[in-house]
Amino acid sequence: MRITEAFHDRFVLSFEVFPPKSEAGLERLCGADGGVLERLCGLGPDYISCTYGAGGSTVGRQLDILDRLKQDGRTIPLAHITCIGNTLSSLRAQLERLLAHGIDHLLVLRGDLPAGWESTRGDLRYASEFVEFIRREFGGRFTIAVAGSPEGHIDSSSIEADIAFLKRKQDLGADYIMTQLCWDMEQFRRWLDAIRAAGIHLPVDAGVMPVLDPASTLQLALSRNGCALPRELCRLISRHWVFPHPFAKDADDAAAAQKRADFREAGIAYTIRQIEAYRAMGVGGIHLYSMNRYEDAARIVQGAGLAKGRA
Ligand code: FAD
Repeated sequence: MRITEAFHDRFVLSFEVFPPKSEAGLERLCGADGGVLERLCGLGPDYISCTYGAGGSTVGRQLDILDRLKQDGRTIPLAHITCIGNTLSSLRAQLERLLAHGIDHLLVLRGDLPAGWESTRGDLRYASEFVEFIRREFGGRFTIAVAGSPEGHIDSSSIEADIAFLKRKQDLGADYIMTQLCWDMEQFRRWLDAIRAAGIHLPVDAGVMPVLDPASTLQLALSRNGCALPRELCRLISRHWVFPHPFAKDADDAAAAQKRADFREAGIAYTIRQIEAYRAMGVGGIHLYSMNRYEDAARIVQGAGLAKGRA
């Protein structure tokens, strides 16, 4: 089964995980008896994707995770891959290795440029060139997702230019779009209308970052494309404000632990409402950034009615 077929049949559910730094973290994720992956598979996702570290630094662990999913057999494993610091021959070798492990679903990315870099320092400059390369060398053997930025990519000169480059990824052979986190639903709606008007017909899988902690919500908004924080989310953070600020290691606030716990509850409810809004807009599925945690992901997809009949 290919993900592209699932988009025709149903509302697609997927999770994203990342390769942990430690052996203990890898065991928590991949463990055979109650590991996070095993439990996430029980929620019936159509696929689970695993991120690719800068310059391929975590490729070995990424493959361990994808192998574990393949072995479980209940979902499709999808590999993120970027062209940062990669020659064509190293990309070809990585793609052949993925196929040898039975991994034929990809999220094809340029990757974030490390601090101080002005180019990918590899043979390819953009994700579109990477899609073209894969189609030329591997034909239709891979199902290819590409990234979309509903608020415009931080390096792009305009949202219109960014949409034109997204269209290029479609024209060169991408199969569907996975979006960057976006909490501004009005902007998401405008972007969805704009890409359709520009002739982009691919299914859109909306990336959902769960709202679980005030400090990481603020950090994620500002570190990824300068995402807007809607008033409702700002008020949520304000109502649970930890003094002197949510980033403080030792908060000068006797109620800090309770405020963080209350924020988490309110954030889960907020995330469920966001998923409902995405569904109402007609996206093809949601891609939940699980942050390698089962409990929060489960509460969110169950609360949104997406785990029904899947467990
Ligand atoms: P591109 O599509 O190449 O676009 C990059 C920039 O170049 C944009 O500003 C675009 O407008 C511009 N551009 C594109 N084509 C041209 C052209 N021909 N001429 C001039 N300008 C052009 N990063 C990782 O390193 N590892 C991960 O695992 C990872 N996972 C991700 C998962 C999701 C769901 C998403 C949405 C992003 C992920 N990223 C990951 C981040 C991604 O790598 C960054 O957003 C990166 O900065 C851009 O990647 P892209 O594929 O969108 O690049």
